[in-house]
Amino acid sequence: MKRAALTVFLVFGIILSAIAPTNATAGNVFAKNSSATGKIALTFDDGPHPIYTPKILEILEEYEIDATFFVIGRNVENYPDAFRAILGSGCEIGNHTYTHGNIGGMSESEICRELELTEQAIAKIAPLRPTIFRPPEGACGSAIERASRERGYDIVLWSIDTLDWAHTPSDIIARKLLGNIGDGDIILMHDYVSRGNTTLGALRIIIPELLARGYEFVTVSELLGDE
Ligand SMILES: [Zn+2]
Repeated sequence: MKRAALTVFLVFGIILSAIAPTNATAGNVFAKNSSATGKIALTFDDGPHPIYTPKILEILEEYEIDATFFVIGRNVENYPDAFRAILGSGCEIGNHTYTHGNIGGMSESEICRELELTEQAIAKIAPLRPTIFRPPEGACGSAIERASRERGYDIVLWSIDTLDWAHTPSDIIARKLLGNIGDGDIILMHDYVSRGNTTLGALRIIIPELLARGYEFVTVSELLGDE
């Protein structure tokens, strides 16, 4: 290759690598990691919320455990202090779209835009670019997977749905979860549910019990072995 051509090739390569997503394994879909012995991941969707997110963080801090928050971009803009509180706690941030709309009915470019708007809302507050994406309702499909890959995300679903979104009483959430939990489970919870919250009460039961059983609470990326 001639020197000029080589230079152009190298410069173009550097530019490409600078704008390319940082997640080299993007495009995978995860719901749990059974090989993560003794580890589990709590995840909270639909925040940040000015009341419930700080209350959840207070409980996590009390037990000195980590979790992952899949945030809605619009809520990051509306409640920046609650978002900063998550960052301050050391918990992980994931992307949960900007509007929480029906992405099953969106085109690839519309989904990319949802992801990008949330990235921009986050970037206004902190130099952070999430690499994990949870589609609202756990929707999957080729457009969603292509958009995730294009924006540099792995898709993270869950292996245990606590049904806190359906106002399931705290003790029932806890009983079902404690009867089903296993190595590498990803637990779906919410830091915002309209008309009341049973999540906080459930956390008060399940966290001390699972710690007593020897489980370690880690972020999703730690659970998947990316950190
Ligand atoms: Zn959601």
